[in-house]
Amino acid sequence: MDAAQRLDALLKPELAALQQKSLYRLRRILAGPQGPEIEADGRRLLNFSSNDYLGLAAHPELAAAAKRALDQYGLGAGAAHLVTGHTRAHQALEEELAAFCGRPRALLFSSGYLANLGIAGALAGRGDQVLEDRLNHASLLDAGLLCGARFARYAHADVAALKKEFEARSGHTLVVTDGVFSMDGDVAPLPELARAVDEAGAFLVVDDAHGFGVLGETGRGSLEHHRLGMAEVPVYMATLGKACGAFGAFVAGSEALVESLIQRARTYIYTTAAPAALAEASRAALRLLAAESWRRERLRALIARFRSGAKQLDLKLADSVTAIQPLLVGEAAEALQLSERLKERGILAAAIRPPTVPAGTARLRLTLTATHSEEQVDRLLDALKAAAP
Ligand code: PMP
Repeated sequence: MDAAQRLDALLKPELAALQQKSLYRLRRILAGPQGPEIEADGRRLLNFSSNDYLGLAAHPELAAAAKRALDQYGLGAGAAHLVTGHTRAHQALEEELAAFCGRPRALLFSSGYLANLGIAGALAGRGDQVLEDRLNHASLLDAGLLCGARFARYAHADVAALKKEFEARSGHTLVVTDGVFSMDGDVAPLPELARAVDEAGAFLVVDDAHGFGVLGETGRGSLEHHRLGMAEVPVYMATLGKACGAFGAFVAGSEALVESLIQRARTYIYTTAAPAALAEASRAALRLLAAESWRRERLRALIARFRSGAKQLDLKLADSVTAIQPLLVGEAAEALQLSERLKERGILAAAIRPPTVPAGTARLRLTLTATHSEEQVDRLLDALKAAAP
């Protein structure tokens, strides 16, 4: 056997085991833009599986802004931000994000995953500790594991459990949480967390990937929802690939925080800047997100409609007020089967299985967007009524 054959011989049994446990992952191939209806695997489907919560991903103003920037800047940024990759478009987006968040500075990262690795790596290391909600997004958990600090997870949204994890250390402590939990849709108890973190002399880091643009009267996310500011949450991170309909992420905070990230966050320093066209698209998204509050209002109305319909059907929905409305199923195979039955009825509702969620809690992660119609939400309810076990 040559090396390639030996490698395959190593990998194939693992793949077969995943198949057997209904944990094998497949990609759908899309033939057009995101939206309430998409063409996936050659079929038109009603889409309840995207993070495009405000319906901006295919908005013509984002595409137009990107096209103008392509003419001005070309495509590739050509280098990292600290070399020659940082354009006026990136700079303007950072300034606008900082102003929108009411913080002195914001710093762009090329993705949310990179932002989270960068934050933990820059702010914690040996002698420090990082404490995380056990249902935090994988990128946050990886960041905590990789940064070299003592790393511990506390029970989900459980402030008393967090308090037990504080240990006397030579260094400092970061407490890290999703603002809105990505697979459950629930909002973190940020005021209680902030109090406990402050009493312990620690620092709270919030990843608001699923709250930014959606929660709060003006879309400023989980912190607006809870009326918290920089004093309680000095490190605020959010992504641009969800409600903003674009791609990338940012951290907002003080001058010293952003300058420290620029100096020390390895995933900032050692990666190519995202294209300027993306930054211009995000600027357009931010303008729409701020100006068009009807998108948030519509989303809220659709969430209420869906939840009240689901209640009448006695469906096992998670306790969520956000656009993420998981339907708990249990075993991976059952979740896959339900997803398949919905697909037969023209509905795309992706099954989320371990290790993305804990064993025995496989689910359909249903998501709503501002551009769904009421009739489409009713079609989802009808299909669930027919397909749910
Ligand atoms: N944080 C959370 C809570 C997320 O849900 C995600 C993406 N699913 C990320 C970070 C990573 O962001 P990105 O997709 O920009 O890498």
